[in-house]
Parts: sequence; structure tokens; C-alpha cells
Amino acid sequence: WKHAPPSLAHVFAAGRGHGDKIFLVNEDERVSFEAFARATLQLAEHFKGLGLAKGDRVAVIMRNLPEWPVAFFAAALCGAIVTPLNAWWTGAELEFALGDSGTRFVVIDGERLSRLSEHLGSLPGIEAVLVARGDGQETADPRVSALEDVIGTPHGWAALPDRSLGEIMLQPEDEATLFYTSGTTGKPKGALGTHRNIVSNIMASACSGARAYLRRGEMPPVPDPAGPQKATLLSVPFFHATGCHAVLSPSLFAGAKLVLMRKWEPLEAMRLIEAERVTGCGGVPTIAWQIIEHPDRHRFDLSSLETVSYGGAPSAPELVRQIKAVFPKAMPGNGWGMTETSATFTSHVGEDYEHRPDSCGPAVPVCELQVRDPDGRVLPPGAVGELFGYGPNVVKGYWNRPEANAETFVDGWVRTGDLARLDEEGFCFILDRAKDMLIRGGENIYCVEVESALYEHPAVMDAALVGRPHRTLGEEPVAFVTLAPGADASALELQAHVAARLAAFKVPVAVMLQAEPLPRNANGKILKRDLKALLEA
Ligand code: ATP
Ligand code: MG
Repeated sequence: WKHAPPSLAHVFAAGRGHGDKIFLVNEDERVSFEAFARATLQLAEHFKGLGLAKGDRVAVIMRNLPEWPVAFFAAALCGAIVTPLNAWWTGAELEFALGDSGTRFVVIDGERLSRLSEHLGSLPGIEAVLVARGDGQETADPRVSALEDVIGTPHGWAALPDRSLGEIMLQPEDEATLFYTSGTTGKPKGALGTHRNIVSNIMASACSGARAYLRRGEMPPVPDPAGPQKATLLSVPFFHATGCHAVLSPSLFAGAKLVLMRKWEPLEAMRLIEAERVTGCGGVPTIAWQIIEHPDRHRFDLSSLETVSYGGAPSAPELVRQIKAVFPKAMPGNGWGMTETSATFTSHVGEDYEHRPDSCGPAVPVCELQVRDPDGRVLPPGAVGELFGYGPNVVKGYWNRPEANAETFVDGWVRTGDLARLDEEGFCFILDRAKDMLIRGGENIYCVEVESALYEHPAVMDAALVGRPHRTLGEEPVAFVTLAPGADASALELQAHVAARLAAFKVPVAVMLQAEPLPRNANGKILKRDLKALLEA
């Protein structure tokens, strides 16, 4: 089909070039790149038959199944705006997002259809609902039909006929994706990304790995095409920009196998790393911690790991040292990004990271970062202010949110809402979310700093600092902590541990030891608003 570069059509074509190599592993299902391409083209043709037009929204609502990337690419190749929705949302939340985005077609799995069924009546704009793995679920709604009737099951995708889509014109500035933000600070917002945004992000992450070597005057390693296939263990959901990036960049673009999990579970993750010879594993920092601190880690052969990388949430500087100690052959990596930057916007790997363990790295190539004061003045290196980003990865804006757009996207720059500083060489240090910082009697407390101090205590598994209203001081810091399995520490001991490292005003006035894991959203980020509600209660 016709398209002006760059577009997702190129990423799809690159993926097809890997032929019979394995693309997706899901329990006993193994899907090759070619089989994936055939299923995708078959579904795209079906969409065209349904009258799917450029710019239509197609929602994908599934857990991490092989059908997810099929639905994503089938819609994108037809020029649709793919709208991946959070698979954890309730029926009412899904109804809101489907209405908000004005979705015309839905691809959903059986589990989520049962949640959405009673809401479909209130969504007259939806014309067709294709259900993956519905197991013959009965619904009276005539718009609902089985995806299997169109493309069959993954076991049969390789045998599907090869198809051509005819002429579809995709342009770099065409809108391609509508990813919703995580909703950590408020209601999730749909971030509208173009084909150029997505392809730029893939290119930028590919280049930033090489840059880390070139910085040291070394040549980046050249992958051996005859060597064993790289494999990524996907621990985050597809429906966030970062999870989707794993489909696009290491896999379709670079040819790695993507190993899926029904849900994140460290023991199962270690089993899969051993069985599938996983070379890259990552997600949010907690995932790395859970493996490192797992009492059964030694039972598994994890020596295939070449990279352990993470981002999306603050990580303790201690983590990079732990990774070096536990996986001597693996390269640790950290990155900062947001839905509004189409995933990764900084990248920090290897020695650079070991030398600056509290940074998340410099901006990826051809993107820029600035730190500004509240009046919008650009601050010099070393000064703390709000972080702004600029470059081809920055999305066009939010869907249907004129006020948020005016506030967040200014002259092509995205206002991140994060507090940071940049050093002389452009390495970025995230201090906190602007909204997450506490002011205790006029003194700034960056939650991340206190959390990092807590993480340095060997017994601490998870730590989150939140502010509790105080009559005269405004706010005071309270820590929520869970302990590593079998470890023991008292609240007093943890307070003393922080006091030995940080100024007295930063020491939590209370440490709440929790028996249950801290509340997290689908991407593994701690939900501080839930912790604050718990405090109030
Ligand atoms: P919402 O915008 O809906 O409140 P969210 O900001 O959590 O939710 P995302 O776009 O998924 O939604 O996350 C981006 C945010 O995650 C960043 O603004 C930053 O606060 C945090 N973040 C991402 N990577 C890192 C990192 N490496 N270190 C620290 N914080 C990070
Ligand atoms: Mg945000």
C-alpha cells in the first residue's frame, strides 16, 4: 500500500521481514512474525469491509494476548486511531473512555466483554464488537461477534492466505494512537500520537543504546544474525505506551521474541526467563526488586539476561548496584518517559548509569529537555525546576481536553509536571512529581529522596512517602512500607535509618508497616492518592 515515511506500516513491514522466527509466546501458543502479519492483514481487510475509515477510533481492550498486536496493527494499517484501553478498568470506566473517544469499533477479550456487556446499550456509536476468546459467550447485542470467526486461533494464523490491503495512504502526521495516561495524579487523559511520534520513539531508543558506547569511544556491539534470537519478557501491559513499545521496538523492529504473561508473578517470570532464554527483562523498578529479593531466585538459571531495564517510576540508586551484583552479565538500564512523549524520553545504560545511579539519563537523540522556573525562565544546570521536553516524540495533544492542552503543550514543548535538574552534560535527575513534593513548614521534601533512603535498608521491599495535613506545618511526611519476605524491622528502626542519612525535617513522623502490598495501578506504579485516602480514613 502507499504511504509516506515514516509510519506504522514501515514497522509492520520490518516485522514481516523476520519471517518464521517466533514473535509471540503465550503459554503453549507460539506465533511467528509471518503468522502475525497474515492474521493482521486478514483482520484489516475485515475492518475495511465494515467501512472503517481514516481517523476512526478502534478500541483494543484485552489483557496481553497475541490478538492485541494483531488488532493494533490491523486498525493502524487502515488509518484508524488505535485506542488501547486499560484492561483493569471496570465496565463504567470503559464506558466513559469509549464514549470520550467516540469509538466506532471494539476488539475485546471475553473476560472484559462480560464487564462491558451491560454498558453496550449506552454506547450507540459503537458499530461492531469483535470478541477474542469469548468461549461462546452469549450476548443479545447484534453488534457482538467472535474475532475467531474472522482470523481463527493463533495456532492457525500461519496457514491464513497472504493478502494485500490495496491502496491506503498513511502520512507521518496522521493520528495513529490514543493512549490513556496512567491516572496517577487524576483522571486518565487520552494522548493523541501520530505515526511520526511512534516511529521517532522507536528510532530514538535504538540510537540511544549505541550512543552509550560511542560516548565512551567504543563501537556498539553488532548483533550476530546467526546468533540465538533475543527474547523479551513482557511484564507490563500492552495498553500503556511503554508496553506497546516492547512490541514495536525490540520485536517488530529488531526481531526479538516477546514472552507474554497472564499477570506479573515473580516465580513465573523466573521460570519463563529460564525456559525461553530471555535476554531482556524490565518494566517498573519493582519488578527487578521482586526478582532480586525472591527467596527462590537461586533455583533458576537466569544467566541468559543481557539487559535489566526499567522506568516509569522512581527507582532507588541502590538498584543498579544490586543488578550488577546479582546479574554480572546483564546491563542495567533506566529511562524516564510519559504517555505524552510516546514512551521513553531519556535513556540511561551501562557504565553511565553505574556512575550516576540517581539519574535517569540524558534525553534520547534528537529530543531536548529543559528545566524552568515557575515563571517559565529556563534554568541553568544544577538548578531544580519543572522539566519540559521537546522533540518528535512529543504527542500532538490530549483528546477532547482543551484546558489540559493549553496548560501542558506550549510552543511544541510538553510540560511534564515533574521536578528535575539537569547536570552540565545533560543528564537528568528526577526529584519528584511537582504534585508529589511536600512542603513541611516551608522546607521542601522530595518524596523520592526519602523513599530512596528507606530502600537502602535491607529489610525494605516497598516504600512510599505521602504528606499528611498538619495544622501549623502545612504537611508532614508519613511513610508506608512493606518488608521483604522473612525480613524484620520496626518503624523506629526505619526512622533512625532515615535520620542517619537525611536532615531531621525529612524523617517520616510515622512509618506505617503494611502487611499487604502497597496499592498499585496496572503499570505497577504506587497509587499515592489511595495511600492518602487510607491516612485520612
Ligand atoms: P497521570 O498523568 O494520568 O497522572 P502518570 O503521569 O503516572 O499518570 P504516565 O504517562 O504513565 O502517567 O507516567 C509518566 C510519569 O511517570 C512521569 O511524569 C514521571 O512522574 C513518572 N516517571 C516515568 N519514568 C520515571 C523515572 N525513570 N523516574 C522517575 N519517575 C518516572
Ligand atoms: Mg502524567
